[in-house]
Amino acid sequence: MREKLYSTTEWKKIEKEIIKRDEGCKVCNTKEDLIVHHKNHYADGGSNEESNLITLCNKHHGQVHTLERFYNNNHVFKTFEQILGEIKRRCQLPPKNLSGLSVTKDTKY
Ligand SMILES: [Zn+2]
Ligand SMILES: [Zn+2]
Repeated sequence: MREKLYSTTEWKKIEKEIIKRDEGCKVCNTKEDLIVHHKNHYADGGSNEESNLITLCNKHHGQVHTLERFYNNNHVFKTFEQILGEIKRRCQLPPKNLSGLSVTKDTKY
């Protein structure tokens, strides 16, 4: 039952360590509303290795998933680093450029 991970004490411990390592969201550096994301999704067999984990705020985490879904749907392969780079660039643009990206609240990890 892999999907139970996020409620385990083991995960809480890993989460704490990764947030400490990254010192906030890797896009905007905020220290609020943080989520530890699996670059290779846990549901798809991604590991809990430090190298597979990254700290993002709720907003940028949602954007990562939205972009991943967008590229998947269009059968375009992008590495996590490419997607993150794209979000960082969007982050520096005026807000109107983000209108194409709708972030859903119930985004899965
Ligand atoms: Zn952020
Ligand atoms: Zn995620």
